[in-house]
Amino acid sequence: MAATFPGVDTVRLELTFAGVAPTPASQGVVLHAGAPAFFEFACPCNDCDGSLDLGAAVSSAVRTRVRRSTGTVACSGSRIVAGAASPCALRASYVVTGTANPSAA
Ligand SMILES: [Zn+2]
Repeated sequence: MAATFPGVDTVRLELTFAGVAPTPASQGVVLHAGAPAFFEFACPCNDCDGSLDLGAAVSSAVRTRVRRSTGTVACSGSRIVAGAASPCALRASYVVTGTANPSAA
């Protein structure tokens, strides 16, 4: 991650889910500079093959002065509902907060 986003120490992701029942539990992740810059998360619906790509959210967050961005991403996967594949309706509201590396500031 340090190579992709120089000057960023940690990135914190908070995800809140909606659109499906039962609603998956919220998730919080903290990624450190040494971690790979990989921001794709498997959909929390256990019968869904989709994933949530937060790469754009993270890059827009760390490029701003406040290092924060919020928004919503939709799952692009499909789920088996009553024996038939149907689009996953999951939406994830995210809050991305980056922390600057003091030595690079
Ligand atoms: Zn899904």
